[in-house]
Amino acid sequence: AKAEGGRRVRAFEPEMEERQHQRRWLERELRLAIDSGQIELHYQPLFELATNTVTGFEALARWHHPERGMISPGEFIPVAEATGLIDALGVYVLKTACAAAMQWPGTLRVAVNISPAQFREGNLDQLVEEVLRTTQLPSQRLELEITESVILNQDQATHDMLTRLRRLGVRFSMDDFGTGYSSLSSLNSFRFDKIKLDQSFVRNLMERDEAAAIVHVVAELGRSLKITTTAEGVETAEQLARLRASGFSEVQGYLLSRPIPAAGVAAFILAQNNL
Ligand code: C2E
Ligand code: CA
Ligand code: CA
Ligand code: CA
Repeated sequence: AKAEGGRRVRAFEPEMEERQHQRRWLERELRLAIDSGQIELHYQPLFELATNTVTGFEALARWHHPERGMISPGEFIPVAEATGLIDALGVYVLKTACAAAMQWPGTLRVAVNISPAQFREGNLDQLVEEVLRTTQLPSQRLELEITESVILNQDQATHDMLTRLRRLGVRFSMDDFGTGYSSLSSLNSFRFDKIKLDQSFVRNLMERDEAAAIVHVVAELGRSLKITTTAEGVETAEQLARLRASGFSEVQGYLLSRPIPAAGVAAFILAQNNL
């Protein structure tokens, strides 16, 4: 039995080692990437259904590694969160996104993803305030996308932080709505300006009656709470028609536009205006 156990340990050790090696590599490289401009932001438009206009863009981080090529945020954000590099990355993302938004016409908003780990640092409000001051971006044009875990695991420090951020006049979106355990409970304890229904519901919209029912209820919830409802991951015209019929306020997804590089945003806005 002992020999058998020994073999089993040896069998998975290389895999574990490989994964740890990979993670250390990512951490080292990410540190360099943030300082050397390998991280770029792309911007994905948010469309308001009532007016058929773009109301703003969500900033999404992209890492172009010189040797490995494109590394997705799904891969490097968790490493950044686990290693504390999320703070440096968060500073870069916020500054860059707000500076970019200043180049856009008047009322367009920019949505920035804020990781729960950034709330632990304790100076997020100072960072937001400083970035708004230096870029001159009006605070109501900045939208912070947070997930329910920030609201649920709220200690006194996080509660105070949320209050100070709210006082700055920035808007709050609840990201990935419906995927956690307590989405409704979070809505009940913090006033969000927007609900972003997770794309998993949109993906099943045409195949599953349950998804269609949920979409209806979330649209109704938004109307009752008088907050914006946004559906993510809209890829087909059929999904768009359903969301419109349900009364969703906004949509975002490949059907309307993929995330676009900063340099392409001005042309995109111009093309929209000429429709
Ligand atoms: P998220 O905030 O839920 O962002 C939506 C993701 O869905 C993005 O993936 C976006 O490119 C993708 N997407 C948009 N439209 C469609 C569609 O029609 N179909 C499909 N299949 N996907 C669509 P991305 O850019 O790979 O980002 C993944 C996640 O990484 C984000 O999820 C967000 O949680 C995180 N992330 C990205 N940038 C940042 C950042 O600057 N800071 C932080 N803290 N997290 C970020
Ligand atoms: Ca988001
Ligand atoms: Ca999301
Ligand atoms: Ca997500």
